[in-house]
Amino acid sequence: MNRTLIVDDSALSLMILTDILKEEYDVVASKDGRDALKIAQECCPDIILLDIVMPMMDGFEVLYELKKMQETNSIPVIFITSLNDPENEEKGLVLGAADYIYKPFSPRVVKARVKNHLDLFIMRKTIEELALVDQLTKISNRRSLDLRAEVEWARALREQTLLSVAIIDIDNFKKYNDYYGHIAGDAVIKSVANTISRSFFRKTDFTARYGGEEFVVLLPSTPHHDGEKLLQKVCSNIENLAIPHEYSSVASVITVSIGGASIIPQVGYEFRNFMDMADKMLYNAKKEGKNRVIWYNE
Ligand code: GH3
Ligand code: MG
Ligand code: MG
Repeated sequence: MNRTLIVDDSALSLMILTDILKEEYDVVASKDGRDALKIAQECCPDIILLDIVMPMMDGFEVLYELKKMQETNSIPVIFITSLNDPENEEKGLVLGAADYIYKPFSPRVVKARVKNHLDLFIMRKTIEELALVDQLTKISNRRSLDLRAEVEWARALREQTLLSVAIIDIDNFKKYNDYYGHIAGDAVIKSVANTISRSFFRKTDFTARYGGEEFVVLLPSTPHHDGEKLLQKVCSNIENLAIPHEYSSVASVITVSIGGASIIPQVGYEFRNFMDMADKMLYNAKKEGKNRVIWYNE
């Protein structure tokens, strides 16, 4: 059931709106703007109905704050207000409200508008998910990595902190597909993705499927020795999955090769150059016998 947050200082309005929506939605009510901001962050509503004229903090301010916070800035907000003039309506819409309803309202119109905005919100979330998540493994895709890398690269450059990156590539995977079939191959990609993403615990660590049987891990504020140690663990975790691969030139099970690099970004040097360093290390790992981690040494 989708969740609706209703914010209105009038107990009567709250009761009427709750009555209109409670059959179809999980309704959370709040009489105060500041309180509503906290609820919006904690309960993740899918839509917010917001009064404007309220003591302490008015609806415009609440919307302004909601738009500033990453957790709440995409939630559709519908103003329901006694301020029934085009100036305030324009102000609300310019501030980013999805809709603006005058009081007194028609319950059926409120219901219909809530439903329409929710449908749009859900559609947008689905599109966003499809654009950023790899559909086979359900981990982030390459586009998502590009976006994250841009942010982390800029941060590390600004703060002059160490950034580590690793490229992970499944060994002899073409042979695996040739002998066990594509569907079995897909299952291996899923298991490997799962194992990689479960190996990192910091909120800032980031794992993505880079392409076919290649993955990238981005580790902000992580020096060489920590990055290398973590990726050694990934390498052995994958070997320990013990997925049989009789035709591998390396072992009797699925293994990976990993190339890594750690640097403090400098002006004039770009993320793709950094990735090239890790890619060269991956090439060396393959050349030196696979199933190993090689890290760039300054
Ligand atoms: P190396 O040890 O040097 O990495 O050899 P490799 O065979 O793993 O490397 P290569 O790049 O020659 O082949 C990668 C193979 O991965 C090609 C293709 O058969 C397989 N592959 C790529 N994407 C997918 C996918 O989405 N599903 C499946 N099942 N296989 C894929
Ligand atoms: Mg490859
Ligand atoms: Mg490979």
